[in-house]
Order: sequence, then structure tokens, then C-alpha cells
Amino acid sequence: KTIHLSATSTEYDIHIGQGLLSTLHPRLQKLAGGKSYRPFLITSPNIWKLWSKQVRASFPEAESPTVLFLPPGEKHKRLPAVESLAEQLAQHGADRDSILIAFGGGVLGDITGFLAAIYMRGIPYVQIPTTLLAQVDSSVGGKTGVNLAAGKNLIGSFHHPRAVFADIALLKTLPPLELRSGLQESIKAGIIADPKLFAYLEQNNELIANGDPEALTKVVTASIKVKANVVAKDERESGLRMTLNFGHTLGHAIEAATGYKKLLHGEAVAWGSIAALHVALARKVIDPDTFARMANLILSYGPLPRFKATASDLVALTSSDKKTRSGRRAFVLPTGIGSTEIVYDVTDEELTAAAESML
Ligand code: NAD
Ligand code: ZN
Repeated sequence: KTIHLSATSTEYDIHIGQGLLSTLHPRLQKLAGGKSYRPFLITSPNIWKLWSKQVRASFPEAESPTVLFLPPGEKHKRLPAVESLAEQLAQHGADRDSILIAFGGGVLGDITGFLAAIYMRGIPYVQIPTTLLAQVDSSVGGKTGVNLAAGKNLIGSFHHPRAVFADIALLKTLPPLELRSGLQESIKAGIIADPKLFAYLEQNNELIANGDPEALTKVVTASIKVKANVVAKDERESGLRMTLNFGHTLGHAIEAATGYKKLLHGEAVAWGSIAALHVALARKVIDPDTFARMANLILSYGPLPRFKATASDLVALTSSDKKTRSGRRAFVLPTGIGSTEIVYDVTDEELTAAAESML
């Protein structure tokens, strides 16, 4: 399956399927316009150990990619990693006829995309997301960047990939917790924009959570469609793209309050989504049945680990969220399965009550 993303500043294909790695070289050659190109693949040792044979098999020996490594983990998503990779690219003589290949999860994709954005003021790159989260969310949309001590993703740029290859086969080696955590972003996609995806996730929990490739292909395809649609209409996040932030206002606060260690991103987003549902229910924006269906779907892909934080700390942390503009906190409320509204008047009291529902 191929989804074509066409936005103001770019267009590219997102390929979804099983075994895409085997056709990587011819596809990259096509992207390079038939000319010769130099592939630089950026990955982590743990991922490369699992998948190097399959990747190498796609390339003729002489055209095999130069492989550069970063240690895995969010703590390496910082500027020194970018500088070190840039130095290595320069040593290898990488230039604008090179193509960077991000081969890893969201951390690697964000770093590689940012590196591609600033090396020689911008060179092409492609995404091969290897986690579910990266397939359904981070590899699509052109947001790249790294963290500062003051917060996540505070340095970055928009730089779209030339193509995305979401190979479902790669998910076979993903730890089950990472899979389920990533699925929370698909649940988000269902809640904000796709009732069919929502129902599919409801009805096929076991297949999906156990990593059935056919079921995952459906889920990944539908989730990417939601993201690509939103990005096509609002590349720079002036409005619609903010709806992707559903569950993230308090989700990010939980991640910050627990030092990014206790919960996976999707797990924090799941808690944040449940809190947002509480706000929507209290405001009567959704009825109790819809609330229950949404909350049950989220919990059915759990269990969600508990965490320690106070409601007031969590609420305080939401005001440092990047989505705050001139003191107004954008908050995404579901108005039904597949529809949302963005509101700016959620009070600290409402948020505190919602946060307490999680603790
Ligand atoms: P991650 O990149 O840290 O990957 C999770 C772990 O799984 C890592 O240890 C990784 O080495 C390992 N791994 C990856 N693929 C594997 C595979 N196929 N088999 C076995 N192990 C594998 O985490 P993530 O959840 O993919 O990404 C989180 C990051 O994504 C965060 O930094 C977040 O800010 C970013 N993000 C970016 C966007 C965006 O629009 N750019 C959107 C959402 C999230
Ligand atoms: Zn997210």
C-alpha cells in the first residue's frame, strides 16, 4: 500500500507493507532520479544486529550503505549526537547527492531528520521506522529535532523525508510493551479522526496486541492516513495539526513529572487521554457511553503502569507545554468518535479534577 502525502511545501510517498526492505535499493535509486547516490544508514547497534542481513541483501555489494551508529535511548537525543554524526558524514565525504536513511524508532528518526535538515543546509533523507510509534506517528510529517535540558524537542526544524518505508515485518522483534505503547497513538488516531479504525481496534484487540502482521498492517495504514491527512492540511501546526496532541497535554506532564523514565510515551499519552476524556465528560461534550467506549479501548491495550505525582504538579507542568501560546493552553477534546474540538478555556480546576482521576 502506498499513501501519497501532498502538502504545501512537499510531497512524498509512504509505503506500507511486509518485506519492503528487500526492494529498498531500487526504490532509493528511483528517488535519486536514476543517478548514482550514496546511502548513509543511521541506526543503533541493537537494531542493526537484528536486521543488518535483510538490509544488506537489498544492495549490491559495492553500493552497500555506510552505516553510522548512535546508542539507543531518549537520553542520546541531544545536540552532541547530531554533531558527532555530522563529523562522521563529513569524514566520509557525504554531500547533497547522499541520502540519509533513518533506520530505527522515533528517537533515531528525529535525530537523523534534524541532521539531514542542517548538514550542508539540508540533504535528502528517508525514514524506515522500526517501532510502531515511529511508523504511525513520528516518521510522517517532517518534524525533526532534539531535546534540551529544559524540555523535549525544543530544538528542531521541519524537514520532510523523501519517502517513508513502514515495513510491518520489522515489528516482529519489537518488545511487546513497545508495541502496545505505540498502539496508543493509533487509538488516538481513531478517537480524533477515524471511527472505522476505532471499531477495528475494539474488535481485534488480541490479534493486534499480539502483533499479527495482517492486523497490524491495517492499523498502521489507517493510522498513517489520519496523520498524513492532518499534515497535508496543516503542515506547520496552526490549527488542525494540534488535534494530534489529544492526550498529550497531560501525557507530556506525566513524562516530565516522572523524569521520562517510568512510563513509555504511549503509556503516558494513554493516561493523558483518559484525563482529557474526563474533561470532555464533565463538560458534557461527550456522553457517558462514548466516554466508556473510549476509556475501555485505551485500557484494553494496557495495563497502564501507575505513577507518583500530584495533580497540582501535573497541571503546573502543562503550562510549559509548547502548545501554549501567549499563556493560552490549547486543549483537544473529543466531541464523538472521530471528531474533536480545540478549546483554550480549560481551567486549572478542570485539569486538576481530571488529573486526580488518574492518581
Ligand atoms: P525509541 O526510538 O527510543 O525506540 C524504542 C526502543 O526500541 C529503543 O531501545 C530502540 O532501540 C528499540 N527498537 C526500535 N526498533 C526495534 C525493533 N524493530 N526491534 C527491537 N527493538 C527495536 O522510541 P519510539 O517510541 O520509537 O520514539 C519515541 C521518540 O519519538 C521520542 O523522542 C518522541 O519525541 C519522538 N516522536 C516524534 C514525533 C515527530 O513528529 N517527529 C512524533 C511522536 C514522537
Ligand atoms: Zn505522541
